[in-house]
Parts: sequence; C-alpha cells; structure tokens
Amino acid sequence: MKKPLGLYLHIPFCRSKCLYCDFCSMPHPSDEAMEAYVEALCRDLHWWSERCADYTVDTVFFGGGTPTVLPVRLLERLTEVLWHDFCIDPTAEITAECNPVTGERERFLRMRRAGFNRLSIGLQSAHQRELRALGRLHDFDTFCHCFSDARDAGFENISADVMSGIPHQTPVSRMETLQKLCALGPEHISSYDLIIEEGTPFARVRDRLALPDEDAARQMYFEGCEFLTSGGWKQYEISNFAKEGYESRHNLKYWSCEEYLGLGVAAHSDFGGARFGNSRDVSAYLRGEDITEEHSIPSLAERMNEYVMLRMRLCEGVDYQAFASRFGRSFESVFGKGFSKYEPHGLVICDGAHCAFTTHGMLVSNAILSEVLDFSGEI
Ligand code: SF4
Repeated sequence: MKKPLGLYLHIPFCRSKCLYCDFCSMPHPSDEAMEAYVEALCRDLHWWSERCADYTVDTVFFGGGTPTVLPVRLLERLTEVLWHDFCIDPTAEITAECNPVTGERERFLRMRRAGFNRLSIGLQSAHQRELRALGRLHDFDTFCHCFSDARDAGFENISADVMSGIPHQTPVSRMETLQKLCALGPEHISSYDLIIEEGTPFARVRDRLALPDEDAARQMYFEGCEFLTSGGWKQYEISNFAKEGYESRHNLKYWSCEEYLGLGVAAHSDFGGARFGNSRDVSAYLRGEDITEEHSIPSLAERMNEYVMLRMRLCEGVDYQAFASRFGRSFESVFGKGFSKYEPHGLVICDGAHCAFTTHGMLVSNAILSEVLDFSGEI
C-alpha cells in the first residue's frame, strides 16, 4: 500500500511586489526567466519522482509568488511532468494560488483541463483605499471578474484570502469586505492578520502606518468568526473557514504533520523522517545546484512539540488517542497540566478525549503555546 504525499511547488514570480510581502517572489519576470525556472522544476520533479515510488500524491499546491503569472503553457508543462512521473490519486486536490489581475477565462479553462481543481485567490480587502495601502494591483471589480471567470471555467472549489489589520481598516470596512466576498459564495475563506516583516517597505515606515489598534483587531476577529460561521463557513483552523467538505486538504497535511515534499526555491519538506528547506537562490537553482540549506532529523520531543503546536491551530485540537498511537506517550502525561490551567479562564477545553482552544483561546494561542511547549528536548 502506497503512502499519501502532499507536493508543494514554489513559483517565485509576481506581476509586482506588494508592500508587506516577505514571500520569495520577484516582480516583473521575463518569459525567459519563467521558462528556465519551470525547466529546473521539471528536472527536480523528475529526480524526486524516483524517490517517491512508494507514495501516492493526493494533494498538490502551486504557491508563490503567483503561479498564475506563468504563461499557461508552462503550467501545463508542469502538470504533464507531474502526471507522467508521479502516481497521482485521481481524486487529488490540485490548487493554484492566483492574483486577481492574472485571472482570465481562457487561462482557467486550460488549467481545468490540465487537472487543476482548486484556486486560492488573494482578495485581502474589498476597499480600494486598503488595497492601495497594501500595494495591491487590483480592485474589487477585478476580483469579481476573476472569480466569475473561474466559475465559468468549471472551478467548483475556490478559496479567497482576506486580511485584517490593514492600514485604514476599521471593523465596519472589514465587515463590508466579508459581506461582499461571501455574496460571491466561495467554498473556503482564509483570514490572516497583516504581519509587518523586517526588510519589507512596510517595516521601513512602520511608525507612520495607520494600523487598527488592539481593540479594533479583537472586534474584527470575533465579528468575523461569528459572521462567517453563521453564514455556513465553519471555522476549522485559527485563520481558515470552509463550507462542509471544502477544508484545504493540502494545508491539513501541514497542521497534522503528515508528509509533504516542497520543490523549488524557498520550499520546505517533511519527508522520510527528515525536515529540510531550500534557499531563495534562484540562480543556483537554475544551475542545478543543491539549494538545501536546512536539514534535520527531529527528535521525538521536537516531533511531539511540533505536532501539538500545529494540531492546536485546528478547532478539533489534539485527539488523545491519535497522539498516543503516534508517540507511544499519553498527551495528558506530557502536556495535560500545561493546558488544563487555562481551562478555568475559558481559553482551552480538555474533555478527556481532545484538547482544543476556544475561540477566545485562539486569539492568544501563541502566548499559551510558548508557555506550554518545551523545545529544550527535556520532555
Ligand atoms: S501577490 Fe502575494 S506573493 Fe506576490 S507580492 Fe503580493 S503578497 Fe507577495
């Protein structure tokens, strides 16, 4: 019986660079650069396929960057190699991230024919002032056209990203964004907080950004959760909401510590018991050099901590039985005391079979996890 595997392909190109973006992506790529990169990825796919003979790929995620910046024939080339070299489950979830300015019906039609069945489109906000503040190229109308072109082309599983904590955003404008987005009926919504990363244009003007304060951020989080849940998008992870059966199967692999292989610059893997990551050096990748820059075999203690850290992002939290069969230790004996002290405060629920954050707990989950988890290796 073959083991399941998630594949991630990193496409490091975008039309332009958003002001907050720290992802590995280069603006204004030439056709030659994209062609050369895709050939390098195909070479890499082929090399790895021989090491994946025991696996069936059941999710593929094209992330970036903006994969849909690639000419569609290059996306087709990648999927041809994938189908030729790997054992792909016929029901596999095949996702591409998409910026609204790169969406058009013809491209989507060809992508559907090439096997893509899920799109993740970046909206961030429905308000022009907020989109401009982020340095996004599109407006809400462009997103709507992109969305309806994707539907016309046969995409029945569409996710949209929205952001909170944007300069000039208020609880009212944030709610309007959610209302306008939900009226379109996406199957999945990811809602992330703006994080100001070092080295980005935002970090240089941090003090001058008109960011919402902490109270507004709390209000946006709780109102957003309530609005989406009451509309039928069930929260299943801190930042993710889905209609029944449309949870992101690929991302669930990350949060459940299942195996995945990341190819291309800046991609990370958890494969064959090892964790490794690639550098951002596109030139070295094109030259066919090994760009692995981190490689480790995590200890049992590291694995347990990582598992709990990721599983607690999910609303269902940690299942005690699953933890015991995975690690041969009981969850209560290792982490039980650490989490149960937050129960009286309404931040955590431990019911004898599961341990999970409440909605209030999710908002302060990072602080709780850094208290409870112990990466010192002393467990
Ligand atoms: S579209 Fe996404 S990856 Fe590209 S620059 Fe903007 S935030 Fe970064």
